[in-house]
Amino acid sequence: MFDIVNIEKPETVEDALKMLSRNPNLKIIAGGTDVLIRMHNGTISGVELLSLRSIAGLNEIRILDDGTISIGAMATFAEIFRNEIINGHLPVLSEAAVSVGGPQIRNMATIGGNICNGAVSADSATTLLVYDAALKLISNEGTRTVQIRDFYAGPGRVNLLPGEILTEILISKDSYHEATGCYIKHSSRKAMDIAMLGVSVICRAEAGRFSDVRIALGVAAPIPIRCNEAENYAIGRDITAETLKEIGKHAVKSSKARDSWRASKAYREHLIEILVSRALKEAVIRGGGVNIE
Ligand SMILES: Cc1cc2nc3c(=O)[nH]c(=O)nc-3n(C[C@H](O)[C@H](O)[C@H](O)COP(=O)(O)OP(=O)(O)OC[C@H]3O[C@@H](n4cnc5c(N)ncnc54)[C@H](O)[C@@H]3O)c2cc1C
Repeated sequence: MFDIVNIEKPETVEDALKMLSRNPNLKIIAGGTDVLIRMHNGTISGVELLSLRSIAGLNEIRILDDGTISIGAMATFAEIFRNEIINGHLPVLSEAAVSVGGPQIRNMATIGGNICNGAVSADSATTLLVYDAALKLISNEGTRTVQIRDFYAGPGRVNLLPGEILTEILISKDSYHEATGCYIKHSSRKAMDIAMLGVSVICRAEAGRFSDVRIALGVAAPIPIRCNEAENYAIGRDITAETLKEIGKHAVKSSKARDSWRASKAYREHLIEILVSRALKEAVIRGGGVNIE
C-alpha cells in the first residue's frame, strides 16, 4: 500500500541534517497525515523517508525569558490544545488546533507538518499569521528565521530550502500580550473536514476604540493572507456594530476568492464579510469589551 524504500530515524537534529545532506532524496515525515495520504494516492512513490519522531524535545512548548512562546514543530494538535501555555496565552491557536480533523488526526498531525505542507486550508496558518509568528529553520548552512507571512510561496508551496528542517515556531510577547481573539472555521461538516473558509482575528482596545486589529483568512486566496485594508480601517475607530460590519466589508478587498466545488466566489466573499465581523465581535466580547449590539 505504501511504497517506502527506506526510513531513517535520527535521534538528534544534527544527525537528521547529516542524513539529509548525505541523501537529498530523503523526504521528511512528521505525523505523516499528509505524506502518507500522498503515498496512498500514488502522488509520491518509491520514497526514502526521514522521520522526526525520535528526536527528543522537538515537540516542546515553552516560554522563553523574554516572554516569547516557542512551539516545537513536532507538537501535535492534541498536545497544543491541551497545553497550559497555549490555553493561557494563545487561546486562538487552541481553537484552531481543536478544529483539525478528528481525534486520531489531532494525535498524529503536527503543527510543523501543517505549515510545511503549504495547504491554504491549514487550520494553524491564519492564527500564526495574526500572531506574526516566526519560523526557525535549521540546515547544515546554519539557522534562519522567516516570518510566516514570507513563508508561503504559492498553492502548496513554501519557502523551505532543500536540507532544511523547521524546528520551532516563535511568537513574541508583543504579539499576544493583552490581545483577545477568535478562530472561526467554516466547513461543510463539523469534524473531519477541511475549511471552506478559516478566519483568525486578534484585537486590542482602548477607551472603546480599536488600538490593534489583525485579521487573517485561509482559503480566500492562493495562500493564507492578512487583511491589511480592513486592519488599517479598524485602527482608532469606535467599536460599534457599524464598524464591525464595515471591517467585514473591507476584509473582502484583500481576498482573491474563486469558484471551486466547495463553494462559489460569491458565497466565499459573503462568508468573509460575515465571519470576519462575527469573529471580531467575539474577540471584543472575550476582552470584556463594550456592548456592541
Ligand atoms: C482525515 C484527515 C483530516 C484532516 N483534517 C485537517 C483539518 O481539519 N485541518 C488541517 O489543517 N489539516 C487537516 N488534515 C491535513 C493534515 O493532517 C495536517 O496538514 C497536518 O498538520 C500535517 O502534519 P503532519 O505532521 O502529519 O505532516 P506530514 O504529513 O508528516 O508532513 C507534511 C509535509 O511537511 C513536511 N514537514 C513536516 N514536518 C516538517 C519539519 N519539521 N520540517 C520540514 N518539513 C516538514 C513533510 O516533508 C511534508 O511535505 C487532515 C488530514 C487527514 C488525513
